Amino acid sequence: MPEAAATPPASLDFIREMIAADLAAGRNGGQVVTRFPPEPNGYLHIGHAKSICLNFGLAQEHAPNARCHLRFDDTNPTKEEVEYVDSIMADVKWLGFDWGEHLFYASDYFEKLYGFAEQLITKGLAYVDDQTHEEMRASRGTLTSPGTRSAGADRSVEENLDLFRRMRKGEFKEGEKVLRAKIDMASPNMNLRDPALYRILHAHHHRTGDAWCIYPMYDYAHPLSDALESITHSLCTLEFEHHRPLYEWLIANVDGLPGAPYQREFARLNLTYTVMSKRKLLRLVKDDLVNGWDDPRMPTISGMRRRGITAAAIRSFCKTIGLTKFNSLTEIALLEHSIREDLNKISHRAYGVLRPIKVVITNYPEDQVEFFDAPNHPEDAAAGTRQVPLCREIYIESDDFMEFPSDGFHRLKPGGEVRLKFAFCIICQEIIKDDAGNIVELRCTYDETTRHGKKPEGRTKPKGIIHWVSARHALDATVRLYDRLFTVETPDADAGEDGDFAKFLNPASCEVVTNAKLEPSLKEAAPGSHWQFERVAYFYADPMDSKPGAPVFNRTVTLKDGWVKK
Ligand code: ATP
Ligand code: MG
Repeated sequence: MPEAAATPPASLDFIREMIAADLAAGRNGGQVVTRFPPEPNGYLHIGHAKSICLNFGLAQEHAPNARCHLRFDDTNPTKEEVEYVDSIMADVKWLGFDWGEHLFYASDYFEKLYGFAEQLITKGLAYVDDQTHEEMRASRGTLTSPGTRSAGADRSVEENLDLFRRMRKGEFKEGEKVLRAKIDMASPNMNLRDPALYRILHAHHHRTGDAWCIYPMYDYAHPLSDALESITHSLCTLEFEHHRPLYEWLIANVDGLPGAPYQREFARLNLTYTVMSKRKLLRLVKDDLVNGWDDPRMPTISGMRRRGITAAAIRSFCKTIGLTKFNSLTEIALLEHSIREDLNKISHRAYGVLRPIKVVITNYPEDQVEFFDAPNHPEDAAAGTRQVPLCREIYIESDDFMEFPSDGFHRLKPGGEVRLKFAFCIICQEIIKDDAGNIVELRCTYDETTRHGKKPEGRTKPKGIIHWVSARHALDATVRLYDRLFTVETPDADAGEDGDFAKFLNPASCEVVTNAKLEPSLKEAAPGSHWQFERVAYFYADPMDSKPGAPVFNRTVTLKDGWVKK
């Protein structure tokens, strides 16, 4: 074992410390085997990314003596679909992780899990019960009073085996029988009060078809699947802490398991301005409250990808938030920070005007066109430059002009001067309005001597520098401005009794701008390319809706903290 592993550096989180201690003690033969065990009942979200980065990250950190399994926890056939299996695999890969040959399905263990259940019955540790779900709940007791054991618990081993086999054969209706562990109806931990291990479900399974009509409960299948795969560290979220004694009970009482995993818990990720549970995200999809699982406003991995958020940004975010043992709420601003940091590095710059106002440069020759050299990336000379055309008529952002400027407004105003980035300075001479009084055009003059960043002679240097797009060359484009999905930080908690978080959906979460004016080079923007429209925001050429010569851009994130002011 490498010596460094014996004394973990102080910066290790509690999981990594624990693993370092296990390695130092020579446990598990120096192996670290983790797993990511999604239930294929929806698309993955950013919370899952935290778990993926942890589990697959540990395998990378401890290579070559480590691996991470992808295991589909497909024990609930009524909610699971192949579409979800496929999307989960695509998302894990896209995040940059690889399970290699270690792809598993809990359903592959159905026969073995069944055998373990017979073993528990034979040991007198499990029994077939006739109680209904409601009866079980009623006889379970409360946190302050013990439960009462069902009469079924007194059945003989033979009778239990017979009944369990008949359950498997399909002789009973759903809810008519259930297999329960025989543990302790007085345990202070409710999960040990004879928990259900198997239930009857006459349901078709996406992998096992109609072979089974009894299905193992999550709490039963999960630890035993871990053990069957010789997982060493079973890492899950805090809500499973109270299930840990049952996990350990099963590992201790089932004979013939190849591995002896243990479970530890860490806090799940909760993010402001969103909901983070597949069930709730499914509702948004099913009720058409969003445009599918990959709607760019969704906190799903596929939605984030479609929005233009990179895998590197998500991994960096997961690193930043770290691991804790207490639940908390993470500001979405922190995620945006990671997104900006990455996009700043990889995005080429371009000019785009979202809310155009036309400017006529009256002293600029009518037929003249000139090209200005603009760097593709201000901090990366290797990214090269591009030629941006300019002519007599240009568009500028309408809020870069104020007819009645407030104090400290340094952009274009009547009689005021501003620099057109990379070009020259212009002075606003006249405002043209339509009959209704709306500003439709600005008439400006330019100063030839102010090219190449030169200060105007005899006047103070203008403080404002604005971007622009040549009117004659402009690409008309559709730009989708995404905003947060909900209007409140904690839609779940705020929904209160009725749980209707949908009432907090942000009606302005997707504004479609159809008359954006973009610099002509963006016409060839490849679907799936990242851009920074200078002074505006980061954009992503939508990988599905962009067509050759007609890109559609999604706003990934604004340039500064805080959501956009419109
Ligand atoms: P959901 O409530 O969204 O359906 P889940 O826990 O039921 O989540 P699973 O498919 O069972 O979803 O999750 C697979 C793994 O991802 C589990 O180990 C789970 O602990 C982890 N996970 C799920 N949500 C989060 C989260 N918000 N933060 C961190 N890990 C999470
Ligand atoms: Mg679940």
